[in-house]
Amino acid sequence: MKPVRRQEWQESVITYRRSPLNVGRPVDVGTWRSPEHLSLKAGCLTWSSGDQWRTIDPPVDLLDKVLKLVDANDEVVAEFARSYGLISECAQHGLPLSHSRIIGAQPDDEYRCSVEGGRRPFVRVQRYRVLARRVRAILNLAARLHKDEDADEQDWIELGYPGVPTFDVICDTWEFRPPDREEHLDQQRENLGQLIDVWLDQCGFRPRFEFSADPDQSFQMVASGLLGAVAVRTMLAVARSDGLAICTRCKHVYPPKQKLKAGRNNYCPDCRDIGRFRDSKRRERQKNDSRQVMDE
Ligand SMILES: [Zn+2]
Ligand SMILES: [Zn+2]
Repeated sequence: MKPVRRQEWQESVITYRRSPLNVGRPVDVGTWRSPEHLSLKAGCLTWSSGDQWRTIDPPVDLLDKVLKLVDANDEVVAEFARSYGLISECAQHGLPLSHSRIIGAQPDDEYRCSVEGGRRPFVRVQRYRVLARRVRAILNLAARLHKDEDADEQDWIELGYPGVPTFDVICDTWEFRPPDREEHLDQQRENLGQLIDVWLDQCGFRPRFEFSADPDQSFQMVASGLLGAVAVRTMLAVARSDGLAICTRCKHVYPPKQKLKAGRNNYCPDCRDIGRFRDSKRRERQKNDSRQVMDE
């Protein structure tokens, strides 16, 4: 089978035009912090515990930048890490560190798992390349499945069959298994969806509520760190969406296909026809009412 070309992403997965590869997403799920100085030694990034930490605000084209790391050398990966921060995966399971938070934890509570190195923490440069390959494989699979075409088996293998620790653990606990070629496309879509869903969960993707006088500030979707931001943007690229919206009629959360406009009603696919019909009737009534007022 022919490997998936970039152009196929643009045909079927991708809608966002303000990033060079069209896979960027304008969505913001919070900032994160990273040590001011990262040293590269023997394939590992290290920092000193006394170092200053700075806040990182992810760029729109974060996913594009991640995808460039697929075959990047250690120096290039280190430069990326200096700009966009650390991949926080636990030493115990190779999962996003936030997977080990206990339910009901306070924001400052320690995680139960820890990063590699203990008192002298380090992150392997190879983890960035693995992440980049994983994102590429997910986009490849989604590009094919959106077109109702069979996915490339190689991309499933890239996602942990066998050998990528993160997804091996998912395979064990969630009975995720790469489908064989004969299996139906729906089954592949279901597997890919489940895989992304578990990944988002591990990255701490959730709504956060702050009771604030400013209603625009009170409700926000958040995810943990660089991994969380990458997971959310990958999900949105696969969903062909730029964010989440709440349907005016049924109040369900759904991924909108178009940019939302302030002050307008938004409808999920199920409610779209009836919602727009009622809106147009209402506008007609309002027009008639104002005409009557002018006639009087
Ligand atoms: Zn762990
Ligand atoms: Zn609805």
